[in-house]
Amino acid sequence: MTGVGVAVALLVTLSGAAWTARAATVAILPPPRPLAGSQPFATLLCKFAGVAVEPVSISYFDRLMLEGPESLDQYWRAMSSGRINVAGSQAFGWFAMPHPPRVYRNNEPDSAELEALARDCSAAADADVDFTRFTGINLVFNECLLRPRGGEMALTLDGVRRRFRVLWLCPGASAAHQIVAHEMGHSFGLTHSTDEDGDEYGNTWDVMSVAGYCAGESDFGLLAQEPIAFNKDLLGWIPPERKFRSPGREARTIVLDAADGGTGYLIAEIPLGRSRMYTVEARVRAGFDDALSTSGVLIHEVDFRRQNKARLVSPQSNRAGDVAGMFGGWSAGATFDDAVSGVSVRVDEALENGFIVTISQGTTPAQIVRSGGPVRLAPHASGQRSSASSPICGDETRN
Ligand SMILES: [Zn+2]
Repeated sequence: MTGVGVAVALLVTLSGAAWTARAATVAILPPPRPLAGSQPFATLLCKFAGVAVEPVSISYFDRLMLEGPESLDQYWRAMSSGRINVAGSQAFGWFAMPHPPRVYRNNEPDSAELEALARDCSAAADADVDFTRFTGINLVFNECLLRPRGGEMALTLDGVRRRFRVLWLCPGASAAHQIVAHEMGHSFGLTHSTDEDGDEYGNTWDVMSVAGYCAGESDFGLLAQEPIAFNKDLLGWIPPERKFRSPGREARTIVLDAADGGTGYLIAEIPLGRSRMYTVEARVRAGFDDALSTSGVLIHEVDFRRQNKARLVSPQSNRAGDVAGMFGGWSAGATFDDAVSGVSVRVDEALENGFIVTISQGTTPAQIVRSGGPVRLAPHASGQRSSASSPICGDETRN
């Protein structure tokens, strides 16, 4: 930073709603914008002065980012339909921080001097790391001062000042696949979604909300589920021809696909005036979604005026106490009706890779003529098939 009066030299995006801007620090979210291409991350392992332990290895992060079908490289390739990857990522360390942990603590709960942590860790690595190769930096400290964070920050490295995607991590659960994916999502500009009650850590269907419910286990800890379709669309990962926009006053029956590869829609949007809409998407237990509690159609009420824009709309009968939202999907035969807006979403049939739904707005489903081309129906047992992975439900992690 170059001195007094430069108010926003620093761009830090924080994952928690509790983050508040402090003097001389402006915390903002980078606007989510279409994201494509390689996004290599340098992972820097940094040791605090006076803390000798090295609780995690560079090989763990090299594997987490790049090795095997569960790596974050494969995860982001799948989530973006091949638009992004993290090829070229590499871990380095350990590097010596100039100060002990107490220097980076502050008086706020679950908070620390994020900018100083980032500056000192990256500066310690600057002689050994060619940062021109990377768009992102994972900062991994040998002691956890706060919950993980992800965002964006300007740093001067290799003599050049530019913005990096930055994650603040530490060993243990904070280094798990699901957590790192969530924080990477923040660094791409995504905010949390919420469950029906507005809990930003309560939407089990979104990697950008819950980390820890119903996740598969792997060598990398809990595996990330997918982002909701609204988040994929914010990053430009849903092509226009795979996006259905309700024409209003005209009911339509469409095929919603859970994954790329078919010909159905990947998201349906039902406009509700200028700043709100419903989104409808299919989610099927497969791939990174294998540990979801069930397959289902998701409905989100999106309000672009909220920081956490997407709110899950759950069937009342499917809500489950303190884990509301966990079963918030709509299954075949269910109908969502919004009397205020006249919107109706009826789930007609489960398919192998999605659902057939009928969307109407101010009209009646009886007028509907089915469209959407040939479809393959799901085997009857598909909703009950057991997962190859071991779902862990209820081990909550907030970050
Ligand atoms: Zn978060």
